[in-house]
Amino acid sequence: MSRIYNFSAGPATLPEDVLNQAREELLDWHGAGMSVMEMSHRGKEFMSIAAQAEADLREIMAIPDNYKVLFLQGGASSQFAMVPMNLLGRTGKADYINTGSWSKKAIAEAKRYGEVNVVADTAAEFKAPAEADLSFSSDAAYVHYTPNETIQGVEFPYIPDTGDIPLVADMSSTILSRPIDVSKFGIIYAGAQKNVGPAGLTLVIIREDLIGHAPDSCPAMMNYRIHADADSMYNTPPTYAWYLAGLVFQWLKNNGGLEAMAVINERKAEELYAAVDASDFYANPVDPECRSWMNVPFTLADPELDGKFLEEAAAKGMKSLKGHRSVGGMRASIYNAMPEEGVQALIEFMKDFEQRNA
Ligand code: PMP
Repeated sequence: MSRIYNFSAGPATLPEDVLNQAREELLDWHGAGMSVMEMSHRGKEFMSIAAQAEADLREIMAIPDNYKVLFLQGGASSQFAMVPMNLLGRTGKADYINTGSWSKKAIAEAKRYGEVNVVADTAAEFKAPAEADLSFSSDAAYVHYTPNETIQGVEFPYIPDTGDIPLVADMSSTILSRPIDVSKFGIIYAGAQKNVGPAGLTLVIIREDLIGHAPDSCPAMMNYRIHADADSMYNTPPTYAWYLAGLVFQWLKNNGGLEAMAVINERKAEELYAAVDASDFYANPVDPECRSWMNVPFTLADPELDGKFLEEAAAKGMKSLKGHRSVGGMRASIYNAMPEEGVQALIEFMKDFEQRNA
């Protein structure tokens, strides 16, 4: 067996230790005589898996007690709707920051439910707005932003200060990449398929006072109150994805937690950006202050060489480097589970490719 270095933006590479453990436990989980996939979500075995995963996530992220953690389905895209469906009606308006493709989708969805003020728009500039340029509507029900734009590779170097207005963050591609102060947020949500686990699971970390504001017309499956009251078991949750996320949380704990991840992630990103910056053959369009640790887009000076680059990288076991169709070029997603050796291998290949093709 030989595993590749998988630079996909998501579903993304998972820690090998986690996959091995899942394989060992696949047919018979801890003597239960069945796989986690086959268990009732209400049975004691799965209840223990679910509770352990939540406890570990709370520990790793230092989630305060006045926050609920929900293990939902529907992806981050459902949260684009669920956030306004539950909260926008409180004042009828919400503020959004637009930094790229995913912000835009969140904005488009929110507009179905009320007035949306785009208070800053740097989507065309490959950067986050300057902190000093931000001001918010005093009657906004919440402020929504995307701390890391997965496609553009733009990451906020700060957490916006919204005062008493709840801050809502789509952390799909940056959650668990470093420690964050959860108490600064009203809601954090994330699709799991990047830094958390397999696709199908969506994490929502929500301050308790923001639960219970949905209008009666809100479908049960979109209502935070219903999921919170049922401990994410209102209907059948994505049990296997929940279990695997739990294994990832244990892996994080065994590997020094988010402090250790932050050190490694910063180093991986710095080395890759340094390689891009050191040559005229490669370029990255993002404001250096706002460069993502997780998603590193780069272009080749001659786009005619893109196909050759991808083909040769794949032949060397480095796959899914093609950039998103909207920005072109390459994108290396280097989440927690991408080993440093993978980034080193990519850098060496980039240097070698440049020498042969410049
Ligand atoms: N937000 C961000 C920042 C993302 O990267 C993605 C997925 N790439 C989404 C939202 C959409 O997530 P999902 O596919 O889970 O709906």
